[in-house]
Amino acid sequence: MCGIIGFSGKKAALPVLLEGLSLLEYRGYDSAGVALLSNGIMTVKTKGRISVLKEKAAQIPELSAATCGIGHTRWATHGAPADRNAHPHATKRLALVHNGIIENYTEIAAYLQTQGYSLRSETDTETAALLLDLHYRETGDPRRAIFETVSALRGSYAFAIVFCDRPDTIYAIRKDSPLIVTANGEHSVVASDIPAILPHGKAYFRPDEGVLCELHTGDVRFYTSDGTEVSCKRECVDWSVTEAQKGGWPHFMLKEIHESPEAVERTVKHYLKDGMPHFSLPVLDGDAIGHFDSIHVVACGTAMHAGLIGRQVIEKLARVPVFVDTAGEFRYRDPVLSPNALV
Ligand code: GLU
Repeated sequence: MCGIIGFSGKKAALPVLLEGLSLLEYRGYDSAGVALLSNGIMTVKTKGRISVLKEKAAQIPELSAATCGIGHTRWATHGAPADRNAHPHATKRLALVHNGIIENYTEIAAYLQTQGYSLRSETDTETAALLLDLHYRETGDPRRAIFETVSALRGSYAFAIVFCDRPDTIYAIRKDSPLIVTANGEHSVVASDIPAILPHGKAYFRPDEGVLCELHTGDVRFYTSDGTEVSCKRECVDWSVTEAQKGGWPHFMLKEIHESPEAVERTVKHYLKDGMPHFSLPVLDGDAIGHFDSIHVVACGTAMHAGLIGRQVIEKLARVPVFVDTAGEFRYRDPVLSPNALV
C-alpha cells in the first residue's frame, strides 16, 4: 500500500507534503517523491526513506516557494524500487501519483508508442501519466482529459494530479484504492488515509469511485464524468493524530505490541455481556446466518489467519461452508459466488 498526499493552500506546501508522507509511513514503502507547482512543475524523488527525500528537497531552495503540490510513498508492484520508478511521474504538462495497479498497461504502452511517447520507467503508472498527457494535449481540459484517461484503464487506482498551467489546483480520482479529501477555507488536502489529514482538522470527504475531486486553495468540488457537480457526505474522525503516530516508540511494531492489551479490550468489549461472549449483530444473528449458502472471508495477513480460525468456528456452529481467500488473489480466482453468499 502506498501513500498519497496533496496540498493546495496559502503556505509552503513542501513541509506539509513531507509531514503527510511521514504520517502515511505505516503503510510501508520503498521510495518517495514530491512534485510542486511553482513556475512549472518541480519533481524530486528517490528510492529509500523519506529522510533521503527531505535531504534532496532541501537542496532545491525554489521548492519552498510552492504552495501547491503532491507527494507519494511507493510500494513497487511494477518495476524495481529505483529513483526512475518512484512517483510522481511527470511530463512537461503534468505530474501524477498513483496507488494501485494498471492491469492493461502493456496495451496502453504500445498505443502510446504509436503516438510518439516513450516510457522512462518500468512502471504501470507512467502509462497512465502519458495517456493523460496525450488527452490533455488534445483537449486542454483537465476534467475531460482525466475522465477519458480513466475510462481506458483497467485495474485499481487512486490518482492525485497537478497540471503545469492550473496553479493551486489538484485533481484526484479513485477506483478500488482509498482516497480522502478535506478543505477548511485556508487550504485543501488529499490523502490515502486519515492520519495524513488529521493535522488539518477532523472533517473529511470520502469520494465515491469515479467522482473527480478538484481541490483549490481552501475548497474542494466534486464532479461526475458528465460534468455535473455533485455533493459528497462529510465525515468526522473521532481519534487524534497522536494515536496515529509512533507515540514515542522507535517503530510501529513496538508501539503495536504495547498497545495490544488496550486494543484487544476496545475490540472485544462490544461483544461481552455480563462478562460472557455475546456475538449477536443486528444483521447477523443466529437465524440470518443460516440463510447464506456460503461465507467468504477475504482478507490479508493477520486478518486472513483470523479468518482461518473463524472458518472452523463458523462451520462448526452454523454449518455453513466458509471459504478463506487472500484478498489480493480473490478476484483473479474468479470465485463462484451465489446471490446468497456472504462476503
Ligand atoms: N503500481 C505502481 C508502481 O509500481 C504503484 C504502486 C503503489 O501503489 O505504490 O509504481
